[in-house]
Amino acid sequence: MVRLLFFAAVLTLGYFLFKLIVKPSDSVRCSRCDGKGFWLGARGREKCDWCNGTGRLPRQ
Ligand SMILES: [Zn+2]
Repeated sequence: MVRLLFFAAVLTLGYFLFKLIVKPSDSVRCSRCDGKGFWLGARGREKCDWCNGTGRLPRQ
């Protein structure tokens, strides 16, 4: 039971940290690079030119 409460606390904390990092109100995840800001091309790591390497796009 104590372990279950600890697990719930970690989940809640993780959720708030996730909300701090990801702000869905003003931007959406870049669908071209899947939010990473780059992809692995033939010449190695290629910066995404849609989001300019940020992984985020302004909400349209
Ligand atoms: Zn991108």
